[in-house]
Amino acid sequence: MKSEELFKDAKNYLPGGVDSPVRAFKPYPFFALRGEGSRLFDVDGNSYIDYCLAFGPLVLGHANPQVMDAVKEQLLKGSAYGVPTEAEIELAKDVIKRVPCAEMVRFVNSGTEATMSAIRLARAVTGKKKIVKFEGTYHGAHDYVLVKSGSGAAGLPDSPGVPEETTKNTLLVPFNNEEALTSLVEKKAKNIAAIILEPVMGNVGCIPPKKGYLEFLRDITLENDIILIFDEVITGFRIAEGGAQEYFGVTPDLATFGKILGGGFPIGAFAGRKEFMERIAPSGDVYQAGTFNGNPISITAGIQTLKNLDKKFYSELDAKGLKMRRGIQDVLHDASLEYQVAGLSSMFQLYFTTHEVWDYTQAKTADTDKFNHYFHTLLSNEVFIPPSQFECCFISKAHSSEDIGKTLEAMAEGIKTAEKK
Ligand code: PLP
Repeated sequence: MKSEELFKDAKNYLPGGVDSPVRAFKPYPFFALRGEGSRLFDVDGNSYIDYCLAFGPLVLGHANPQVMDAVKEQLLKGSAYGVPTEAEIELAKDVIKRVPCAEMVRFVNSGTEATMSAIRLARAVTGKKKIVKFEGTYHGAHDYVLVKSGSGAAGLPDSPGVPEETTKNTLLVPFNNEEALTSLVEKKAKNIAAIILEPVMGNVGCIPPKKGYLEFLRDITLENDIILIFDEVITGFRIAEGGAQEYFGVTPDLATFGKILGGGFPIGAFAGRKEFMERIAPSGDVYQAGTFNGNPISITAGIQTLKNLDKKFYSELDAKGLKMRRGIQDVLHDASLEYQVAGLSSMFQLYFTTHEVWDYTQAKTADTDKFNHYFHTLLSNEVFIPPSQFECCFISKAHSSEDIGKTLEAMAEGIKTAEKK
């Protein structure tokens, strides 16, 4: 029970014993020793088939040899320079080639920085202050967007320390609801700089857009001089080579990235039309900077990761996603339950609710006690999913058919246990 002892010790030095809230599940989280392929190994000698994948980045699985070898080679040449590298151009070109809206890119260190900077840019470009976000979307932990957020903040009130002066400029609407947004835009368009969204909501489980909804957002933003920002920190490089904008065929003005782009190392990026991106310092007047921006380790890992991500890669990954979602449906059917199985591509979640889930309010009808029993049963059967009903599960290239089969067996038991409690 080394994890239990470590957690007890950690709580003396790290708030809540962890460095990010959702990691602190009860009674104590397992402490990682190492990862390999689809498996995560803990300090107590257990291993788990991992569908958390560090909350999304590890699309090739843990410790992919190609990525690790390139990183080792780069490490011997230094880990940060404070001057530009050729590799940054290479990764930028690759992003631009893949992502429809991307004509220029700025690399930063996290998804949080990416959305903060994209919003600042949108405000500068439009000369307007307000932004619209959707209930339950998560765009990182900065003040502009910490309002009815998903992920670890789901269900919590706005955080103390976030000034009202900031959040009064953040307007909220339910996702997938054209009327609510139309009515807001009719009233406030002249003050709205940007609409920011996760094109597939991945921080209250997994909620895809209704058919036509992204097109509707594109039209209403164009008609009202509002910048459309797709936060593709999760969907970017996960659901298609060019992310959700390629998958759904809707091109935003700006997009933000993180997670997969860094190949398992810290990164963020925002990208978009050249006329907007050139407003970023030093070519323009919108300030954005970072000691570790374009860090050579993350950039190297990103380049090697993206090399694997072609059409064939996504068709194989999507097939695994489909197999998983269909398998869960079958398990539910056998148990005569009508819970919702959500997701697309290699993203999935089981909601312990019989309501259809198209927005935050509907997601919140899920029974979190049942989810917790399910989560712990999976864990005791060597399957690790994110420890919250309101996160999304991910599949990687490293997950085998056998892994998925074993996982579905564990899920059948997990669902049974949840129902008995
Ligand atoms: N945007 C989305 C959609 C996310 O899911 C996240 C993190 O999970 C972020 C932004 C913030 O990214 P980071 O944790 O790298 O700051």
